Amino acid sequence: MRKIPAVNKLLEDPSVAPYEVLVGRDALRELIASELDRVRASESTPAFEAIVERLVLRAQERSAAGLRGVINATGTLLHTNLGRAPIAPAAFDEARTVAEGYSNLEFDLGAGERGSRYVHASELLARITGAQDALVVNNCAAAILLILDTFARNGEVVVARNQLIEIGGGFRLPDVLARSGARLVEAGTTNKVYLRDYERALSPRTTLLMRTHQSNFTIDGFVHDVTPAELAALGRRAGIAAVEDLGSGALVDLREYGLPHERTVQDAVNDGMSLVAFSGDKLLGGPQAGIIAGTRAHVARLRSNPLVRALRVDKVTIALLVATLRLYASKESRERIPFYRMLAAPLEQLRARANRIAAAAPGWEIAGVEGLVGGGSLPHARLASIGLACPSAHPGELAARLRRNERPIVARVDDGRVVLDLRTVEPHEDAALIDAMRGILPG
Ligand SMILES: *Cc1c(COP(=O)(O)O)cnc(C)c1O
Repeated sequence: MRKIPAVNKLLEDPSVAPYEVLVGRDALRELIASELDRVRASESTPAFEAIVERLVLRAQERSAAGLRGVINATGTLLHTNLGRAPIAPAAFDEARTVAEGYSNLEFDLGAGERGSRYVHASELLARITGAQDALVVNNCAAAILLILDTFARNGEVVVARNQLIEIGGGFRLPDVLARSGARLVEAGTTNKVYLRDYERALSPRTTLLMRTHQSNFTIDGFVHDVTPAELAALGRRAGIAAVEDLGSGALVDLREYGLPHERTVQDAVNDGMSLVAFSGDKLLGGPQAGIIAGTRAHVARLRSNPLVRALRVDKVTIALLVATLRLYASKESRERIPFYRMLAAPLEQLRARANRIAAAAPGWEIAGVEGLVGGGSLPHARLASIGLACPSAHPGELAARLRRNERPIVARVDDGRVVLDLRTVEPHEDAALIDAMRGILPG
């Protein structure tokens, strides 16, 4: 008989014991059992300390699995893989009260009778966007689905050829159209679309004129487009709804932050679109949601579609969205939304942080870097930023080590360097960054 340690002895070992809480007693016992099976199957029995060390590593991996917070040092503000827009702490504080207890979610406090969960966000959205009414569903993809199902079933939808997009996750407009039972009628060519192309595409079966934002690509050169206002006017003349999938959904003019102009929801409403769809967790800086703003009559038709029930958002989302929208009251309060605060951070401020960090982490150098807005918006805009770089022959390995940090750090690798862009790192995360950087030296 070889000396295989007892399960209880391992469970009680001071290095192993803390994981009982982190991964659960049963899971820890299972880990120990499988580790001991491995020991039994091997040629010789490793030292007790070696068994403990492997066990701790596996328990660490187990406890780190699942959804957790990371430090985004990529410089991409709306990183789809990292959860898009971080939510404002102020919005969370408000939402907590609603989520932890009962609320007037579907209760009219004035009349003392059943109310609608949609009123809470609709009024605020209408006020901010200038639209008559608004509806909130699960995400922008759901918003498109709802619009097509309501207006386009068994009808024809006219879309310009240069707008037949695929957004991330394999959501392709032509496929979604097909699923909704609508027939796609393309207008114009890939580079040139004129109003007469749309006019020619109209038929008695046309139910919708649809425009989509070219979120993550651009076409330059020999091009012509129909303006949204022209399209909306054509819709009114023909008695057909004109709809715009705006995607990122800016509620403020991003030129205020030195960025190129990004079409806003207000622009689309002013242009006369019947309905405008956009996301809650992109440029709005709130929770995942799909918002549809538009005329009273068109939104009313959407609301009466039974699909709304299947696409509805929960109270936490509504509370977070309303609280985030309230922050749009002034520029100052808007910059309590992480996306806008990060966008507004002056270079001098980032440089001062970089100086402090570089002084504490030998081997890392301060570097001028460029970040991105992300979320499919402004694909060509570069955000001047300051970062820290560590030259290395194996930058990929260094980046992997940063991802294994207790609070994982997601860095960028470029040009034989690991780069940490400070614009997307919250100042309170600097200390954790320094701790991790100290363990990493160039070479
Ligand atoms: C991002 C985007 C969508 C999808 O939005 P989700 O909220 O992720 O569903 C749809 N259309 C456009 C143009 C987009 O940019």
